[in-house]
Amino acid sequence: MLSNLFQENSEVLFDRAMTSAGPLDSVLCSPVPLSIECKMSPPCRHCWWRAMSNYNSDFQRLREPKEVIRRIAELANTGIHRILLPSGWLGYELPEWFYNYVHRVKEEIYKLDTNIEVFATCGPLSQNSLNSLKEAGLDGYWCGIEVPNEKLFHKVRPGDSFKARLETLNYVMAAGLKLWSGFLFGVGETEADIIWGLELMKSLPLDSFSLTPYKQYPFVEMEKLPSANLYSWARTAAIARIYLGTVNSFTSPDFITWGLRAGINSFLPVFPEQGQIELVSKMRSTFTRDKIYLGNY
Ligand code: SF4
Repeated sequence: MLSNLFQENSEVLFDRAMTSAGPLDSVLCSPVPLSIECKMSPPCRHCWWRAMSNYNSDFQRLREPKEVIRRIAELANTGIHRILLPSGWLGYELPEWFYNYVHRVKEEIYKLDTNIEVFATCGPLSQNSLNSLKEAGLDGYWCGIEVPNEKLFHKVRPGDSFKARLETLNYVMAAGLKLWSGFLFGVGETEADIIWGLELMKSLPLDSFSLTPYKQYPFVEMEKLPSANLYSWARTAAIARIYLGTVNSFTSPDFITWGLRAGINSFLPVFPEQGQIELVSKMRSTFTRDKIYLGNY
């Protein structure tokens, strides 16, 4: 089925993807970063966080618990559905402070009487760490496979372990956490690699999926590789939508125009103070209505 979809005409793909996504609610997710500390050595050759730390010194530090809690309170009644607690890779065993932060965040959400979900992402982890995150109250964990080809994975992420990421997917499920996964698009992978990656995604009980278009950033080893072509990315995201069915498919609001065309229903990072909740809602409803209208011609 998948290779047939790759041969399909783009208009057919986009129409099918949009029709599948139409009835799905949006999940809007806001990041509340904890720390950019990262033990990956050598670091990943495309790392956005490393690129940004050349421009923003505030990027480098561990957020104080009170700052994190203040941000949760700000997000509580904005219409955000999910909070993501990201950090760099802190090792397979998370430090104790991480569980304390999750616990404090969940307590605050309970106090504020909202049903915002809390996910975390900090790379491959042990079963023990994921069990402890679940005990601390975490709802779900995002572990991408990042590059759906082991050889290419090690070129792009020389310090990372492909095997550990695959194991982490199983550990997330075993811990009873919701699973968010996905991979990058446009780092040199082939169609066969993408098919392999999507088949793996289909075999998992995914709550959420991200096909992240590679973006070119300065001061990292891959700074010369051009950003992913958005038309090709949208075609592949549309194939993923058709193939993966009703799984929440995420992209950044920066790519909302192509994302809506590709059947994407969910967005990260969403910053309510920048009007992005209204923007997503307005663009999604206009796109669905007008697209159906145009389709009647
Ligand atoms: S694990 Fe994440 S933060 Fe660390 S180097 Fe890789 S991309 Fe950057």
